[in-house]
Amino acid sequence: IVHWSPFIQQFKKNRYPWIQLAGHQGNFQAGEPGAVLKKYDSREQKAFDKLMKDVLRSYVPEYRGDVLKNNEKYLQLQDLLCEFDSPCVMDIKMGTRTYLEEELEKAREKPKLRKDMYQKMIEVDPSAPTEEENAQGAIIKPRYMQWRDEMSSSTHLGFRIEGIKKMDGASSKNFKKTKTPEEVKEALKHFVGTDPEVYSRYIKRLKAIRVTQESSEFFSAHEIIGSSLLFVHDKSKQASVWMIDFGKTNPLPDHVKVNHRNLWVEGNHEDGYLFGLDNLISILETIEQE
Ligand code: ATP
Ligand code: MG
Ligand code: MG
Repeated sequence: IVHWSPFIQQFKKNRYPWIQLAGHQGNFQAGEPGAVLKKYDSREQKAFDKLMKDVLRSYVPEYRGDVLKNNEKYLQLQDLLCEFDSPCVMDIKMGTRTYLEEELEKAREKPKLRKDMYQKMIEVDPSAPTEEENAQGAIIKPRYMQWRDEMSSSTHLGFRIEGIKKMDGASSKNFKKTKTPEEVKEALKHFVGTDPEVYSRYIKRLKAIRVTQESSEFFSAHEIIGSSLLFVHDKSKQASVWMIDFGKTNPLPDHVKVNHRNLWVEGNHEDGYLFGLDNLISILETIEQE
């Protein structure tokens, strides 16, 4: 059994509970009112810097520069929850794989055995490790990530639900094995609820994101791995989606072009982001039409 629950932090400065659905709890801090601080990462900083000058700007949290707090460097980001009243929040990780080609290469050159990842694997599926992995009691990171992608809906649908937090707080759940379109649909239905207005706002926003991504210079020039769409709605029927998490968003080598829909073959850098977004939109539309 894998235990999972969102982190709910009371940011005193902001005077409302702040919800974090992924990542290490220590990675986030309260910022200026209306902002959150995320632990600095130079790759993510570069991505945000470029995004602020790209057509995608209105679909990502505003990046307000770097700050130092207790000797740690942070990115100051717009808090996407602050305009909502007791929001429902969902993090969907996009793409057919969640590791960079770079990570695969590194692991091949210098395989680093991870006991913690082996443990996480057998907690979910004791039959998953190979004989060799069992003997070592450890696995390499890309193997663990590949396995997670296949166990969830990532490989087949191009996205997976990372976490959901409903208004009442009751529905935190583990989605590591939510895999089939039918299972994904049930989880999405549960998250959105029954209000047709919320569906149509989400779908409209996702389509706007898609058409903007298709024309974005940034989007065509990057391998976008492990990035999420953050869904937020509340009782007032406000509903919106933003692109977040660019810690593994890498500029493509000069000669490489991707369309984010083609199948990934090692070396072509395809991430399946738009393949996943197409599927996500069509599943939401199916629910809307029911
Ligand atoms: P991981 O790589 O494991 O996904 P991370 O440390 O890179 O984690 P993010 O994925 O960027 O962190 O964010 C983790 C969670 O924090 C998100 O799922 C979301 O709930 C919340 N979050 C992140 N950025 C914002 C934001 N700008 N406004 C509101 N909530 C946010
Ligand atoms: Mg994330
Ligand atoms: Mg990340």
